Amino acid sequence: MTNGFPADSIAQAADWLRASAVTVCLTGAGISTESGIPDFRSRGGVWDRFDPKDFDIRRWLGSEEVRRRYWAMSREGYPRVMGAEPSKGHAALSRLAGSGRLSLLITQNTDGLHQKAGHDPDEVVEIHGTSHFCVCAACGERITRAEVQERVERGEEIPLCENCGGFLKPDAVFFGEDIAPERLERAVTGAESAEVFLVAGSSLAVRPAGALPERAVLSGARLIIVNESPTRLDGKAHAVLRGKTGDILPALVEAALA
Ligand code: NAD
Repeated sequence: MTNGFPADSIAQAADWLRASAVTVCLTGAGISTESGIPDFRSRGGVWDRFDPKDFDIRRWLGSEEVRRRYWAMSREGYPRVMGAEPSKGHAALSRLAGSGRLSLLITQNTDGLHQKAGHDPDEVVEIHGTSHFCVCAACGERITRAEVQERVERGEEIPLCENCGGFLKPDAVFFGEDIAPERLERAVTGAESAEVFLVAGSSLAVRPAGALPERAVLSGARLIIVNESPTRLDGKAHAVLRGKTGDILPALVEAALA
């Protein structure tokens, strides 16, 4: 196990990437903070300003007050997500994939920035869904979040489905909701087939996504973690590269492709 961000750790991790026939990456909110989107658990992150309980699906569906608070927050926050540009970390992973050295990218993020950075959408599993669409909780009708944004900005405090009057919610997984089985299966199969499993910008606190690295290690993968603070699985990693994803990923990918 290696810790820190010395050049020899990068070089070692790059050697593993170069030798790997199947590399799978899991990203979290930490790869998008440099794009101006706050994560949940860092200081100043979402949980410092909002109550996580408001993102519990039963509470959200059961309380008009919670839905009103949610949409007031989301009306303010979505333009930042819509206008965000990919970070140097997103660009580095897109470059790795474009060179044929990344088999699958699993992201916990719902911001769409990997695809905006040029990543092939077919090679991205958005395990927690997307913020760029809304879905009706009653009939399943799906419309763009941009359309809903226009409506909330015009004064709708709690937007409803125009088909059936049901509650519109973002097509992203709330606490207490199941992950779409086909997405979870693709992520688990990817983790179990990986020779190298790379984590970038995740505390690995949220399951089941945060447990994918353990699956990968149990199946024989080398685990590389890139994060600026300690994660739940640092003790199981073969390399922990501590620092900003926007600094480390470009250096790692450059070295792996050299
Ligand atoms: P998290 O907030 O639990 O952890 C983020 C981690 O990234 C932290 O350990 C933090 O130290 C690290 N970090 C922050 N900025 C970094 C940087 N520039 N370089 C390196 N590390 C950095 O996020 P998570 O593990 O993804 O889990 C939280 C859940 O939040 C996920 O399910 C995700 O769906 C959701 N979320 C998504 C977004 C988004 O789409 N951008 C934003 C906030 C939360």
